[in-house]
Amino acid sequence: MQIHQNFSLKNYNTFGIEAKAKQFVAVHTLDQLKSVLEHHKNDKKFILGGGSNMLLTQDIDALVIHVDLKGKKVLKEDENFVWVESNAGENWHEFVLWTIEQDFGGLENMSLIPGNVGTTPVQNIGAYGAEIKDTFVSCDAMNIETQEMKKFTKSECNFGYRESIFKHEAKDKFIITSVVFKLTKCNHKISVEYGDIKAELAKNNIKNPTIKDVSNAVIAIRQSKLPNPKELGNSGSFFKNPVISREEFLKVKEKFPDVKYFEISETEVKVPAGWLIEHAGLKGYRNGDAGVHKNQALVLVNYGNATGQDILNLSKYVQKTVFDKYGIAIEAEVNVI
Ligand SMILES: Cc1cc2nc3c(=O)[nH]c(=O)nc-3n(C[C@H](O)[C@H](O)[C@H](O)COP(=O)(O)OP(=O)(O)OC[C@H]3O[C@@H](n4cnc5c(N)ncnc54)[C@H](O)[C@@H]3O)c2cc1C
Repeated sequence: MQIHQNFSLKNYNTFGIEAKAKQFVAVHTLDQLKSVLEHHKNDKKFILGGGSNMLLTQDIDALVIHVDLKGKKVLKEDENFVWVESNAGENWHEFVLWTIEQDFGGLENMSLIPGNVGTTPVQNIGAYGAEIKDTFVSCDAMNIETQEMKKFTKSECNFGYRESIFKHEAKDKFIITSVVFKLTKCNHKISVEYGDIKAELAKNNIKNPTIKDVSNAVIAIRQSKLPNPKELGNSGSFFKNPVISREEFLKVKEKFPDVKYFEISETEVKVPAGWLIEHAGLKGYRNGDAGVHKNQALVLVNYGNATGQDILNLSKYVQKTVFDKYGIAIEAEVNVI
């Protein structure tokens, strides 16, 4: 296990931003993680998974610990369900494909989300009507201060929309090392209502889709809509969809009758941030190498040599333009470092 000094993180963040870590170490076992934490008690630490949900606006003056714990296994099963455990450093999409190969259902709608398994509880990742909390059982995490292991149950994680305890009370205190999911072995709950899944299946003449069909449809839709970070640096949706009061929403709707929305409760409405940005005229907007993606207004992109600060300035410009037009504040989903 080598500790690197002044280490470039350009290949470790999907925005492809050049930033240096004061120190960098990749850990492959729990013992290595424990030993690094014991030997660097007084150093500032920064935890890195796949780097697909962060914007680096400066060098990181800390020991960057890249969690690269591999391995996955079936813990137990009964007639209908299987409990699968994956270590934190497994690539999420590869893990999803593996579950589908075993005909374990529940994760298929979240195919092709970048990043690692260990980070999925941090923001309760979700797509196409599914969220990690729907299949999550528990996760194990190491206390950074004491190196003791703690199991977080689902209720302890306080999951919400792109939210969990790991963004709040447990932030910078715990490193997630493995996650357990409860998946179906039969009678899979096929969910095709969200987005264009139905249309994609119909295009391929699929009437009774399997979980593999749903996964393939999600992959095809995502590939057609979202820029591949290997070709164009980005971090997926840069902003969360704002949830506003119904009163506030009715005022917006009066001025903008076409505004898209989802009902959340009797008192709250969620508005797609992508719609707000696009109808504020910013889809395809570009300032130097920082831009709003030409097909997907929710995604900010690095055309090559944008700095983290360039992308941050662009995000502030987008937030201000949206606020000035609709009076709605949009919040970053991406972790700005
Ligand atoms: C093209 C694209 C599409 C995307 N689509 C979606 C989508 O549909 N839905 C969605 O929800 N997200 C989406 N994302 C965002 C991203 O993929 C997820 O948030 C993913 O879970 C981040 O994982 P990561 O390992 O890359 O996290 P990182 O970016 O490495 O880390 C994110 C945060 O978690 C912390 N962290 C990392 N590992 C650990 C750990 N083991 N323990 C504790 N804290 C940790 C980090 O310090 C940081 O604060 C997309 C991103 C891209 C680039």
